[in-house]
Amino acid sequence: MKIMYHSTRDKNIKATASEAILKGIAPDGGLYVPEQIPKLKTGFEALAKMDYAHVAYEVMKLFFTDFTEEELMNCIKGAYNSEKFDTDDITKLVEADGAYFLELFHGRTIAFKDMALSILPYLMTTAARKCGASEEIVILTATSGDTGKAALAGFADVPGTSIVVFYPKHGVSRVQEKQMVTQRGKNVNVIGIEGNFDDAQSAVKAMFTDENLAKRMKAGGYRFSSANSINIGRLIPQVAYYVYAYSRLMPKQINFVVPTGNFGNILAAYYAFKMGVPVNKLICASNRNKVLTDFFETGVYDKNREFYLTSSPSMDILISSNLERLIYEIAGDETASLMSDLKNKGKYEITSEMKDKLDLFKGGYAEDDEMSKAIADLYRKENYIIDTHTAVAAAVYNKYREETKDDTCTVIASTASPYKFTRAVLNSIDEAYDKKDDFELFEELNKLSGVDIPDAIKDIIDAKVLHTKVCAKDGLEAEVVKIYKI
Ligand SMILES: *Cc1c(COP(=O)(O)O)cnc(C)c1O
Repeated sequence: MKIMYHSTRDKNIKATASEAILKGIAPDGGLYVPEQIPKLKTGFEALAKMDYAHVAYEVMKLFFTDFTEEELMNCIKGAYNSEKFDTDDITKLVEADGAYFLELFHGRTIAFKDMALSILPYLMTTAARKCGASEEIVILTATSGDTGKAALAGFADVPGTSIVVFYPKHGVSRVQEKQMVTQRGKNVNVIGIEGNFDDAQSAVKAMFTDENLAKRMKAGGYRFSSANSINIGRLIPQVAYYVYAYSRLMPKQINFVVPTGNFGNILAAYYAFKMGVPVNKLICASNRNKVLTDFFETGVYDKNREFYLTSSPSMDILISSNLERLIYEIAGDETASLMSDLKNKGKYEITSEMKDKLDLFKGGYAEDDEMSKAIADLYRKENYIIDTHTAVAAAVYNKYREETKDDTCTVIASTASPYKFTRAVLNSIDEAYDKKDDFELFEELNKLSGVDIPDAIKDIIDAKVLHTKVCAKDGLEAEVVKIYKI
């Protein structure tokens, strides 16, 4: 069966999977959604015997129906291999304190973004070939920290592509920034902005839908595409690890707890549920920027509130773009008007009928002190060290379990290596660590956890800074115009 995609805001704006991957975002500013979410055809007993790449194939072939088996398998093999991941299983399940941690950070940039961004360049260049697109693909990305590096690593020196990454100059960790500004590659650009992630994301989205700019790019031989999590070429590969995790454990039912920012990772879990994974609850964990917790509780999405910088910077987000796809599931044709409320008033409210359809979800949040306690407790109890984002999820899950006594088998998405947020992680265990410098802390974490310092960290310790540009939050387009001389 062939699956077509259409915009969340207009069913008549259609695209094949290849076109949707290539465009990133629909021309009306909506997100591409599959006209229906396909059911898994392969049983879990069979999936249980497959390795990660083959499970990924069984999931992705149902969504990317215009790719041939050979094309899709080539993309998968290029991405999920021992050169790009430091474990043969690609992901690991670690049991600790009555839950399973699904470690999604064994890729090159030690955050879960690698799970999708290692395959996206393959999907995109294959899609371009299939669509007969001859322009250079320009990846424009706004990042809250981890996407940027993973996208840079994925696209660096890929023929026919180039990439521009914008990150909040004062809103990412030192390791995150160092990872990005030391990126090598002839086709990479990294620019800090004097603003937060939402400023960067809004400006990038505006460029994507600016017809005049697209015309000038086309005249120069370029076309924009997006590596942000709104691209289905990122979303669909993420569905695979939920199916994979379930197939390794196969309990009667399963809960997934997901530390959430832009709502891409948890949406992938929801798609896995729609495909047939027997999910009991999807627990959406937020930090102090708890716009989603409030939304699931009240049905009102309201971004008009103070923005906080926390120790889980990749979740410091007030506009969770991928939520629009879930809204589409419950609101259908009303989606466009809700999104226009979001744009004009900064808020929207769903009806109670729509809210009833969100039963599967449970929102929860944890403040930084609760997050730190989750790290320290888990370390003391199990000698297992998790990063700050994962710890937000663990803290939210601990509260949920206490409140509900739900003893369903639970998988917590572990989205980054603790090495990526070493200072905040070690300070949670003992504040005395704060006196040491960042690079000493890697040694300390190594001693404490027994986990080797990942190559991603070793590589940046002495790497040279190659990117120093900073622009104002209304200056992003001017930077793009300068880079491409259009
Ligand atoms: C991006 C990111 C998140 C948030 O994921 P979304 O898909 O944006 O909800 C959580 N943790 C880490 C470490 C991340 O890099």
